[in-house]
Amino acid sequence: MKEFLTNKINNLPASATLAMAAKARELKNSGIDIIGLSLGEPDFNVPDFIKDAAISAINQNYNSYTPVDGYADLKKAICEKFKRDNNLNYNTNQIVVSTGAKQSIANVVQAIVKPGEEVILLAPFWVSYSAIVEMAEGIPIIIESGIEDDFKVKASKIKDYITDKTKMIILNSPNNPSGSMYSEDELRAIGDVLKNYPNIFVLSDEIYEHIQYGSDHFSFGAIDEMYERTITVNGVAKAFAMTGWRIGYIGAPEWIAKACTKLQGQVTSGANCIAQKATIAAIKADVKQISYMVDEFESRKKLIIELLSGIKGIKLNNPDGAFYVFPDISYYFGKEIDGFKINNSSDFSMFLLEKAHVATVTGSAFGCPNNIRISYAASKENIREAIKRIKAVLA
Ligand code: GLU
Repeated sequence: MKEFLTNKINNLPASATLAMAAKARELKNSGIDIIGLSLGEPDFNVPDFIKDAAISAINQNYNSYTPVDGYADLKKAICEKFKRDNNLNYNTNQIVVSTGAKQSIANVVQAIVKPGEEVILLAPFWVSYSAIVEMAEGIPIIIESGIEDDFKVKASKIKDYITDKTKMIILNSPNNPSGSMYSEDELRAIGDVLKNYPNIFVLSDEIYEHIQYGSDHFSFGAIDEMYERTITVNGVAKAFAMTGWRIGYIGAPEWIAKACTKLQGQVTSGANCIAQKATIAAIKADVKQISYMVDEFESRKKLIIELLSGIKGIKLNNPDGAFYVFPDISYYFGKEIDGFKINNSSDFSMFLLEKAHVATVTGSAFGCPNNIRISYAASKENIREAIKRIKAVLA
């Protein structure tokens, strides 16, 4: 039936994160004791004060279509949040609320990237960036980095990849999958390069902003000369454990916000009414209200690093944020273990699934073929058991 599908769909890779999560779920349902460390999904309950806001919205009969760009009171709360946390001044006409940050990113790329235009991605980059760019018929230009660079790309290197076709660069700090954070100085250095290219836009994906362990998060749009060309993306999924509620948003130049609203009006309409009302409670809250989750993530990070460090051939760094480790496992390439030949990170990840019953994600999906991503958004008990199993099969 493939011939009936469009080339766009036939050429579109499935999301590696979601594909692995689906596979793990399927194996689990068939009775296999899989430990899922593939998905970037907090395992906490949504805080009660957010649930209460959602329940109250239901009881107040918030049922109808929402404004395409989001409820006015939510957009106001988002403006206040941008001011409070990010030193960013947006007015409500610059805000668009969407069905998850993924939709926010897709809207922006569809709105401004023209066929043949290049979008610079700094590897490792989140799986869906490249697919979203390709759907817009843009060309992803990948700049590599590795564990020896702390998975960060220097401003001077970015300069070498800029051409007259470059339309956008996507930044993501704290980073999925590496957990690395770009410092203010590093981001300002990138800003210094981009100041010389007035036609290049920056999409700054800050969805992991609150999941960080001591470094200061800096918003790229807070660089004066870059504000007019920066689209700041955020959402409530990661910080408030609201992945399934599907609320993301942008702060952007008004003309980009308008374009995204027009697009969204033809594709999904406004985001879910109950989830928007709950989001107001979430983002108005003092961030201290979620620090218990961040503290627990940090403690799990220490645990997983300690446990993985005891395994031969696994090279690790110490991430500053998000809830992933991204070890270099290339030591195992070319080896055969228990009849399973490992030639690349996809083989390694499949090997762990089949032999250790632990789900991870191949680094190839993130532009880093020497690595795998392991999410530690899981209980300590599961982390201990998973790493014990990994150690056993690699021994
Ligand atoms: N962003 C999360 C992850 O990277 C959720 C899955 C997805 O949308 O890719 O695991």
